[in-house]
Amino acid sequence: MIRRLINKILGRQAPSPHAAPRVLPLEEHGIRREQLSSCVLRVTRGLREAGFDAFVVGGAVRDLLLGRPPKDFDVATNATPEEIRRVFRRSRVIGRRFQIVHVYCGPDVIEVTTFRASTPGPEAADGDEGDATRTIADDGMILRDNVFGSQAEDAARRDFTANALYYQPDRQEIWDWHGGVADARARVLRMIGNPAQRFREDPVRMLRAARLAAKLDFHIAPTTRGPIAELAPMLARIPSARLFDEMMKLLLSGHAERGVRQLRAEGLHHGVLPMLDAILDDPTRQPFLHAALHDTDERVRQGHSTSPAFTLACLLWFDYQAELATNLAAGMHEQPARSGAMDTTLERQRKALAFPRRFDGQIKEIWALQSRFPQRGGGRPYRLLGHPRFRAGYDFLRIRAQGGDAEQELADWWTRFQDAGEAERAGMLIAPVTGETRRKRRRRTRHRPEGGETAEVTLG
Ligand code: ATP
Ligand code: MG
Repeated sequence: MIRRLINKILGRQAPSPHAAPRVLPLEEHGIRREQLSSCVLRVTRGLREAGFDAFVVGGAVRDLLLGRPPKDFDVATNATPEEIRRVFRRSRVIGRRFQIVHVYCGPDVIEVTTFRASTPGPEAADGDEGDATRTIADDGMILRDNVFGSQAEDAARRDFTANALYYQPDRQEIWDWHGGVADARARVLRMIGNPAQRFREDPVRMLRAARLAAKLDFHIAPTTRGPIAELAPMLARIPSARLFDEMMKLLLSGHAERGVRQLRAEGLHHGVLPMLDAILDDPTRQPFLHAALHDTDERVRQGHSTSPAFTLACLLWFDYQAELATNLAAGMHEQPARSGAMDTTLERQRKALAFPRRFDGQIKEIWALQSRFPQRGGGRPYRLLGHPRFRAGYDFLRIRAQGGDAEQELADWWTRFQDAGEAERAGMLIAPVTGETRRKRRRRTRHRPEGGETAEVTLG
């Protein structure tokens, strides 16, 4: 009540959901329907022919307005999920209570949602929760919220003004409910309504602000940015699976370097990804992180694949190294020291942030390969080249070299070795084995349970 009064005095009322949109014709925005995918055009046309409203909405309209290729197309409509299903034979309802319909054309899928009222809470955003009633916790966080609404209400529950633009393909119009076109042109990310209240309803919006500002090269409006520092600790209340997904979106967006800088600038990095926290607080680890993020961004830019496992392997590398050093100092043999350190590192992290186990295997392989790169004699380099994860391991080695954690000469050697012809390769082999090391190696091999490759310990 008091907050509402203060907001009223400060003029920060949530905009009325019943306000009319500004409708911009083609000449004012320049987005032609041909710029949409044929699949999304089929979906909007199908709905309109069945008598419903249908708009392209969200990130796609924003991106087209900015001249960026949209990642995917979402459609919003006043048709209910059952009505959508009836229009499209090849469609499927996703989620139980808050239902999204996936409509398929060939390999493409379009996400179609019914206009929703009010703001999605942390669970609603996942599109699958169990209760249709709206629940608000003491601190204002919306826990459940699943009510169909008008387009005006649908616009008001979206996060940023530039994300609340609706494109009508038949008439080639943009319906702008909250001044998003002007904000997008001015490259401003502005929360719809009262920012503090909207962040409280769903703290993940703070991360979205940092991610989208980095991705779009927008600046966060001062009034939107203002409450973030104070509310950042609310992120601790978000289920870790959702936090993990949101962070992966940021780290694999192609703008990870800027995104992480933005997180820091907003004071959001503490407690979001514990492993990121640890790296950011330790200056000696930063060159490596910088190299890793830069490399991932480049890969995205060049259309190469990226993987959460690789990113996690980067973020946890130093923890693993520290663990390994402890095990070795305690007198453990190399192989058990290594595999023990891997397990401990991953388990410890999982206590702080539940990330899926399905990445463990790949993470361990990338780490395990690192100890094989220094061995450049005999048949070893050839066997390593044939390893199914060689490429990921080599990319990791390159990043380590850039970050000062491995010899640049070693990374360069592997760069050359891969592309060299047979004769050149043979000439590159480095015979490392002196009588003394051979004796040592035999001794160590005897202790090694797996009896595999000899591995030099490479502590950074
Ligand atoms: P990207 O281009 O990275 O996908 P996006 O803005 O499209 O960015 P999505 O996660 O795809 O982000 O969400 C689609 C739309 O749903 C957004 O544009 C926004 O309107 C709305 N939205 C998503 N998450 C939230 C949220 N937590 N609170 C309010 N609205 C949200
Ligand atoms: Mg999107």
